[in-house]
Amino acid sequence: MNSLVPPEVTSLLIGGKSVPGGAGVFETVNPATEEVLGHAADASPEDMDAAVAAARTAFDETDWSRDHAFRAHCVRQLRDVMRAHIEELRAITIAEVGAPVMLTSGPQLEGPVADLSFAAALAESYSWTTDLGVAETMGIASRREIRREAVGVVGAITPWNFPHQINLAKLGPALAAGNTVVLKPAPDTPWVAAVLGPLIAEHTDIPAGVVNIVTSADHTLGARLVADPRVDMVTFTGSTQTGRAVMAGAAATLKRTFLELGGKSAAIVLDDADIAAAASYTAFSVAVHAGQGCALTTRMLVPRAVYEDAVAAAAKAMAGIRAGDPTKPGTVCGPVISARQRERVERYIEIARAEGGRIVAGGGRPANRERGFFVEPTLIADLPNTSTVAQEEIFGPVLVVIPHDGDADAVRLANESPYGLSGSVWGTDPERIERVVAGVRTGTLGVNGGLWYHADAPFGGYKQSGIGREMGVAGFEEYLETKLVAFPA
Ligand code: NAD
Repeated sequence: MNSLVPPEVTSLLIGGKSVPGGAGVFETVNPATEEVLGHAADASPEDMDAAVAAARTAFDETDWSRDHAFRAHCVRQLRDVMRAHIEELRAITIAEVGAPVMLTSGPQLEGPVADLSFAAALAESYSWTTDLGVAETMGIASRREIRREAVGVVGAITPWNFPHQINLAKLGPALAAGNTVVLKPAPDTPWVAAVLGPLIAEHTDIPAGVVNIVTSADHTLGARLVADPRVDMVTFTGSTQTGRAVMAGAAATLKRTFLELGGKSAAIVLDDADIAAAASYTAFSVAVHAGQGCALTTRMLVPRAVYEDAVAAAAKAMAGIRAGDPTKPGTVCGPVISARQRERVERYIEIARAEGGRIVAGGGRPANRERGFFVEPTLIADLPNTSTVAQEEIFGPVLVVIPHDGDADAVRLANESPYGLSGSVWGTDPERIERVVAGVRTGTLGVNGGLWYHADAPFGGYKQSGIGREMGVAGFEEYLETKLVAFPA
């Protein structure tokens, strides 16, 4: 199916060297074909310890954190070497992630590579020192300065759904801010991260130990990284459940934790909206990358009076989307990442049926796909917002349509969730839209199809969707400490 064969990457990056994994290798699988693509290095606990030691040494014993211009240069080199190898990276992204090729020219690859420019520029333009002026305390006049400094060694733990985007949205700002990093990617997409090892070691001036990449089939290596007292900060993207474990694991050493977690975002359709347009857009969006996006609007709240019209419009839009070959230019919905993930999605569809839901579209595997972890875009109606599929993150191409009884009720339903990551509002009256925007407890909102994603835009969650913001200046400042220095005036 896949004409581009990605090269095998079977090494870790530790202390500037490509090294084999102490636990051997593990398989990486093409989710669209179920074929074993090849092998990735399987790190041992000792490898993780060595990576942390290398990051600690690079932070403590080099000028990396103080040489802002050099770091800007290095981050740009990383961007440029990724661009120079973009087709190789694209092949890996399609084959290992199952990402539709059309997304690789955007958020699955080229977008986040370009976004490294934003992080690099901040290393040069950021106000590292702020003069607070003179103040008198207990009769002593002092001139004070605020200095921003790198936090230190950052442990970065990432998931498999948009792995380049998430790896780079952590690496770029963490490096630009002057930290050193140990990156531990998800076991499902090791090559996306591992391929950066040789590129960094051989084609950039990034000093040895500043970036370490530790692939592993074993989730407990992530916990080991979190617990290590030599690590100053953990930046984590993944499920809310694992986020809780990360926070608990970081508590013993009171390290800073930056968490980007799950979502169950609501598309709020008001009664003065173009119902069919809002419903089709929302149905289409949950099918993109087979619904494996944390910020997708997987609950659609529509006025009760037009409920059936909205369901019909969403079903029509879904009927036009086939889950298919991610190498084909027209594909938006590829496979989910693994057999396990497909079982999870199918289990939720069964729960929806058992709770009395109506499966209006999809609900199974596409008939024309004998291999690959495909799930049909699925539309579920007639369940309340308190139902399991409306409350829990499914992470597959599944949309639940729920009726509301007016704007205030829609806001109440949107907020009736442990999550608060994203959402959308559809309507025509600006005052009503503003009231809804103000009422929804969520980190990002798109109005009438507005897209919030960009390098300068801080992204993150309210409530159990996370702590902190990724990207933008806020995403850079997550990786900074604040030092206050006072001099006699
Ligand atoms: P996951 O939580 O299972 O795993 C994420 C990472 O954590 C992996 O690298 C894994 O090896 C590691 N890990 C597992 N257990 C650990 C532990 N105890 N300590 C430390 N690390 C551990 O998530 P996933 O299944 O890979 O990804 C899907 C989830 O990610 C979804 O819930 C999705 O919403 C979320 N996500 C959130 C965002 C966001 O920005 N908010 C973005 C993308 C994905």
